[in-house]
Amino acid sequence: MAVIRSHLRADPWRPRLAWREDDVIQWGRPLSDALDEDGQPLCPHFFEVFPREGSCIRGEGRTLEEAENHCHGKALAHRACDHAWSRRYDSGLGLCRRCGATQRVFQPIVEIGAWKTPLNGYELDQLFSGSMEPVTSASLSGPRWDRSRRRLWLRCRLNGIDVPRPPSEPKDLLEITPYQRRCASIALNLLREGGGDDAIERGTIIIDGRVVSHVRPALSQTVWAWKNWKKAGFPDPETTGDERILEP
Ligand SMILES: [Zn+2]
Repeated sequence: MAVIRSHLRADPWRPRLAWREDDVIQWGRPLSDALDEDGQPLCPHFFEVFPREGSCIRGEGRTLEEAENHCHGKALAHRACDHAWSRRYDSGLGLCRRCGATQRVFQPIVEIGAWKTPLNGYELDQLFSGSMEPVTSASLSGPRWDRSRRRLWLRCRLNGIDVPRPPSEPKDLLEITPYQRRCASIALNLLREGGGDDAIERGTIIIDGRVVSHVRPALSQTVWAWKNWKKAGFPDPETTGDERILEP
C-alpha cells in the first residue's frame, strides 16, 4: 500500500489500484460542481502521486475513481518510458520529450554575480519602506524572513547605497520608526541624485554612469512619494518627519 498524505488518513475513500509501497499519494474533491460551456466540470476531482524518483503526476476526472485511473495510466507510461530529458527551468527540473514527465534531474543553474546586479524596482520600494527592519508580526518573522531582509541590506550595500544596519528589536508593523524614515530619505535622495523625473521616465536610477536601481514607474511607492516630496519642496523626510511623504 502506498503512503497516503496525513490529511487524508481519516477520509473514507480509498484508492483501488496497485500503487507502489513508497509512492506518496493524495486526492481531492472539487470545491464547486459548476460546469463549463461544454458541460465539463470547471473543478475536477484530482488524484496525485509523488513517486520516489521525485516528480508529481496528476490525474483528473469527474469522480475520484476516474482521477485515479487517469493518474495511474500516466504513472505507468512514465515508468515504462526511456526518458529523454531536456532542461525546463533554472531550478534543475527536466521535461521528458517523450512522455511529458517532469523530474528534478539536472543541477540547478546558479547565476554568477546575481548578487551584484542593480536593485530591481521592487527592492527599491522595500528600501524606501525600511523593510530590513524586523517586525513583531509572526507571519513576517522567522529564518526565511531574516534571510531575505539581510539579503536586501547586503544588495543595497553592494550597490554602493549607504544603508545603516537595521535595529535588532522588532517593531510593530504599522509603526513608523526612525530607521524607516532614514531608509525613506535614502531611497528618495537616491532617486533625486540618480535623475529624478528623468530616472522615472527611463526606468533606471543612474549614478556615476552606473545603473544602481531599476524603477517601476506605474506601481512604485518610491515614485509616488517622490511626487509628493517634489511638490513639498524636498523637505528632509528623516528630520522633518513629514508623514504625508511616508504614508498615502
Ligand atoms: Zn519519458
